[in-house]
Formats: sequence, C-alpha cells, structure tokens
Amino acid sequence: MLNATNSDAIAVDAVIFGGGVSGLWTLDVLHRAGYRCVLLESAALGAGQTVGSQGIIHGGLKYTLAGALTRSAEAIRDMPGVWRDALAGKPGQPDASATTMRSEFCHLWRTGSLGSRLGMVGARVGLRVKPQRLPRERWPAVLRGVGGVFQLDEQVVSPPSFVESLAALHPDALVRYDAESLRVNRDESGTVDALSCASGSTRLRFRPAAVVLTAGLGNATLRELAGIQEPRMQRRGVHMILLREADPGNGAVADLNGHCVDGNKTRVTVTSDVDTHGRRVWQVGGQVSEDGTDMPSEDLLRHALREVKASLGDAPQLGTDAVQWATYRLDKAEVTTAGGLRPDDAFVEQHGNVVTCWPTKLALAPRLAERVLALMPKPGAESDGVPPPDLVSCERPVVASPPWETCDRWTPGNLIACDDARSAIPTCS
Ligand SMILES: Cc1cc2nc3c(=O)[nH]c(=O)nc-3n(C[C@H](O)[C@H](O)[C@H](O)COP(=O)(O)OP(=O)(O)OC[C@H]3O[C@@H](n4cnc5c(N)ncnc54)[C@H](O)[C@@H]3O)c2cc1C
Repeated sequence: MLNATNSDAIAVDAVIFGGGVSGLWTLDVLHRAGYRCVLLESAALGAGQTVGSQGIIHGGLKYTLAGALTRSAEAIRDMPGVWRDALAGKPGQPDASATTMRSEFCHLWRTGSLGSRLGMVGARVGLRVKPQRLPRERWPAVLRGVGGVFQLDEQVVSPPSFVESLAALHPDALVRYDAESLRVNRDESGTVDALSCASGSTRLRFRPAAVVLTAGLGNATLRELAGIQEPRMQRRGVHMILLREADPGNGAVADLNGHCVDGNKTRVTVTSDVDTHGRRVWQVGGQVSEDGTDMPSEDLLRHALREVKASLGDAPQLGTDAVQWATYRLDKAEVTTAGGLRPDDAFVEQHGNVVTCWPTKLALAPRLAERVLALMPKPGAESDGVPPPDLVSCERPVVASPPWETCDRWTPGNLIACDDARSAIPTCS
C-alpha cells in the first residue's frame, strides 16, 4: 500500500517502466499523440537486451531462409522502412537522426556448400528488402574467400547511440528510481490507481491512467506487483562472442556487418563497432551463439574461432595475438511460447490499465508502440503533452555501456587456436 493519498500524487496518462528500445520508442509515440508520460528506469537506459544487441533492423530475411513467408517475416517486413524514416529524422516517427550508424546495409554471404546456395534461393520470398547479388569487385576484402556475396538493405545502428538519441528527445520525462522502493496500489477492480517510488532523496507519487511495462526481464517482477500472472515470460539465453583488435588500428578486424547464410540458418552474424580506445570490435551472434548457450566460455571460444574462420573462408589473423576474444551472456525476455520458441511478433497485452510489452526484436519496437497507443484511453484533462513539472529534483538515468566496454577478460586468438592451452583460457565475467 502507498503511504500517499491519491490527492498529492502527480496525475499522468502513463507511467512507462523501462528505458530500452520499447520504452523509449513508446514514450515518443505517446508524447507526440498528446499524452503526458513519465518513464521510470531502474538501472541504465537500454541495460540488458537493447545495448547488448547487434543493432540490425531486420526485414524478415532470416525468417524466410527455409523458403516460405513465415508469420515472423510478415510481421517484420515493413519495419526497415519505418526505421529508415526515423533514422533520417522524417516526421511521423521518433527523430532518431542523431544515431550513429554502423552501416546502411548488411552483407550476406554464403560458404561454398550446396545447402548454402539453396538457402539463398529460398531467401527471396515476398520481402520488401531483398538481397542483391554483388559483383566480385564489390565484395569486401574480408569476404574474398567466400562463395558469393549479396547486399541486403537492412540498416545497422549503434545501439547505445540510438538509445542516447531517443533519450535526448524527452530528457525531462526520464527518471532513474530505486526498484526496491516501488509501491503499487490496486483498487478493488485490480486497476493500478497509484504508484510510489524513490528517486535519489525525492519520493515520487503518481496517479497513472495507464501503466506500460517495457522493462524486458524486469517485467516479470513488475507484473507480479500488478497482480498479473498469465501469460508468463520466457527467457531465451544466448552466449555471444566478442573479438577486437589487440591494438587500435592494427587492421586485424575489418569493418563488417552481416550474415553468413548456410542452408536455412544464419551460421554467424557479425556486427562491427569501435571501442573507446579506437579498437575495431566484432559482436558475433547467429547460430554459433545459440550453439554456445550451454557451453562454458572457453569451449565457445574454440567453437567460435572455427566457425568464424570457416564462415569467412580464410581469416588466419583471427587465431593470432593480433586479435582478442571474449564472450558475454544475455537472456532475451519474451512471452512464453509452446516449446520455448521465439514468438512470431511483438507482444502487447492489456490487463486492467496495465499493458505488458515484449518486442521480440529491436526492429519490432515501432509496431509495439503503435499497439500501445491503440490501447490508451484519451489523454486526460490535465494532459498537455508536456512532462510533469514536479520531477526537477529526480535522478536521471544514463545510457548503459556496451558489452565490450564492461568485459575485462579477453583471450588472445593464438591461445584459443592452441588446443593444449585449454586451462589458460580465461572466461569473461
Ligand atoms: C545478444 C542479442 C542480440 C540481439 N540483436 C538484435 C538485432 O540485431 N536486431 C533486432 O531486431 N533485435 C535484436 N535483439 C533483440 C532485441 O535486443 C530486444 O528484442 C530488444 O532490445 C528488447 O528491448 P526492450 O526495450 O523490450 O528491453 P531491454 O532492452 O531489456 O530494456 C529493458 C529496460 O528496462 C529496464 N528495467 C529492468 N527492470 C526494470 C524495473 N523493474 N523498472 C524499471 N526499469 C527496469 C532495464 O534497465 C532496461 O533499460 C537481440 C537480443 C540479444 C540478447
């Protein structure tokens, strides 16, 4: 129960919990529709999935590799166009034009295997964004040993920079609060009619018309507080691989964003960035990171070195001390599905005045936000589209650091390449 009476609480149209892509995109959509909102973040903006993601704005290709237009592909195929407008700062979408782009497109390449060739054929089903074959002279140097290269117009964003650009749209609506301090009051019908929490030394009390849960894994606890049990959340773990130049600019790690397609799988997915010391970094996901879910880090590093080298045809420098490797684990937060599979679409469901959201993919955040908007009651009488004025003394959340900045256990490639060095391979905490 709250200590506060509802009369001294701030009336808002929506309290949004969680400042990853879902919360920040939704905040802007609601704000532009005239809703007065506050976004409560318990840690750092984008902490967890968004900042740890690869930043690819998928258009469904990876869901059509078996040769059919799947429900997943159908749900996501319009998203690249929406994101392109947002990233260009066009009206009608959140202005994300301050985002640093990793690339305007992905490369798609195949190894020389028959399965890989069939996968490319199956990739052309009913998508807005289709792979275009590149002549050999336009293949990036790092892919010169592979069996065929395509360009796929799926943009790749730098996730921390994207979070920063959306956060800058509504800085006054963002509050960092202490999750332990949260109190939720429900009336006899189950409606959440009051919320209270601490932000620094300030105690905040809200009277929300709606509560929007976009806290990723954090939604599980928040839903318990709101008395919501079904449907439940599932976690799907991935064990991602990082590799970086040992010295800034040594050229051992190329700028590359894209997928190696083998059969109906993305064997590896590589995205590139540059760390604060100027070293080129790769995040490696795809099948290799799913294979690694139950592997200890040192086993995954060996598996990944083999897989990445095989995917690139030839990349001997990856197994030398010019390159350092690490891994990190993340759980994807999703609605429970039969068999624990990835849901086909963004999940948005209302219980009373509480809306639970899991986007499933970064790329689906616009679809999620439009669904939240469709569930909102009309803006309240006190709403004028501006954030509440009483939040001046609150703590403000910062943007989370990407995994390569927080990981402090890196292994030189030559140690991974040497089978005898098993005990010498440190793991990334
Ligand atoms: C390794 C990896 C790679 C991925 N790559 C891609 C990709 O390339 N393209 C793509 O489309 N999708 C990708 N995804 C999926 C995508 O990252 C997620 O679907 C998406 O980021 C989820 O966003 P979210 O805002 O719902 O949750 P999160 O990003 O998890 O954000 C949740 C926020 O809520 C906050 N929070 C947690 N608990 C509380 C609480 N109690 N109160 C308030 N705030 C709270 C967290 O600190 C965080 O800021 C990837 C996912 C992973 C794990």
